[in-house]
Amino acid sequence: MYGAMKDDLRKKLDAIRAEGLYKAERVIATPQGARIRVRGGKEVLNFCANNYLGLANHPAIREASRKAQDEWGYGLSSVRFICGTQEPHKLLEKAAADFLGTEDAILFSSCFDANGGVFEPLLDEDCAIITDSLNHASIIDGVRLCKAKRWIWKHGDLRDTEEIDPDTGKPAKGLERCLKEAASCRYRMVATDGVFSMDGDIADLASVCDLAEKYGALVMVDDSHATGFVGRTGRGTPEHCGVSGRVDILTTTFGKALGGASGGVVAARAEIVEYLRQKARPYLFSNTLAPGIVGGTLAALDLLSGSTELRDRLEANTRRFREGMTAAGFDIRPGVHPIVPVMLYQEKLAHDMADRLLDEGIYVIGFSFPVVPRGKARIRVQISAAHSDADIDRALEAFRKVGREMGVVK
Ligand SMILES: *Cc1c(COP(=O)(O)O)cnc(C)c1O
Repeated sequence: MYGAMKDDLRKKLDAIRAEGLYKAERVIATPQGARIRVRGGKEVLNFCANNYLGLANHPAIREASRKAQDEWGYGLSSVRFICGTQEPHKLLEKAAADFLGTEDAILFSSCFDANGGVFEPLLDEDCAIITDSLNHASIIDGVRLCKAKRWIWKHGDLRDTEEIDPDTGKPAKGLERCLKEAASCRYRMVATDGVFSMDGDIADLASVCDLAEKYGALVMVDDSHATGFVGRTGRGTPEHCGVSGRVDILTTTFGKALGGASGGVVAARAEIVEYLRQKARPYLFSNTLAPGIVGGTLAALDLLSGSTELRDRLEANTRRFREGMTAAGFDIRPGVHPIVPVMLYQEKLAHDMADRLLDEGIYVIGFSFPVVPRGKARIRVQISAAHSDADIDRALEAFRKVGREMGVVK
């Protein structure tokens, strides 16, 4: 039987390659950090990790993880409700809720699972989910698993309108129009990324919360690209937007700024968390987070609760890079987030330029369709608190040099 499928898969893989969409995986020969070595290559400066605060290989976090493993063992071989809950898991749930400013929190193996498990128990076919068109794949999948009626608003468009979207030629609605149309549903939930990872733009949560309040909807925010560093004390987009306490459900990952290992969380009102413990399928039917990861994440939250030094450093680095790129004449998407999209528009140019930058010792990735719309190809730079001023300046120098060579800047 496999013969036919094999041929089919070969053809599909060839087609992916022919389209230039094949994702090859570069092998890193060192721990994650500002400086890494790619297998068979030299040391490069890394500008494409989600290691926003430089905690991925932080000595205090490695030590805490090792200690947790020594004390609590390697794995639990159980889901939480059978025999997979240890003291550190309860402590991490408490620490995450405290850090995020919610009543309670519940751990998942990943934020992908958190988003996969959060909607279905809370919303049935009489309810509505209203989501931003650019939401993360895991929100989209979580919504698919849930029976609620669905509305999608055009990314960033909060108005009470329905218009033909010039990019797609299809009708597109604003959030307020969706909320009006969903008015007869029993519960309505507005779901959005806090930060959209391809553009680095921050959702206008103040307006989203105002609209949700006006139409009696709950608000769910996935803050994976914000927890730990966005907002004055790193509490994320609700803090940045001044809506702390108005977001009903926050999901986020431990796999980015908070040490970058893995794990996710739903932080929310007490009854929501309690109910998810009874009903969320990825929680009930998937293994407990390993003690080593729990210990490391606890240390990360502890570090960030006591000091804003790392997020301040990241903010300064981001400003330095954004100002340098603008002065050099590059077209970057404006904003304040450490995701800095360098717009090149043409697919091939984005990939060729990323390759040239790697030759210059700067590791960045070109993004093109289908990850971003056609004709909107870019290099996505990600700044880290682990970068020094000299690292940022070296990246700027390389961008200027390669940009001039390739005719992108003068
Ligand atoms: C990275 C990311 C996720 C997935 O997080 P994992 O913990 O790696 O599964 C979910 N949502 C958003 C918005 C993300 O950026």
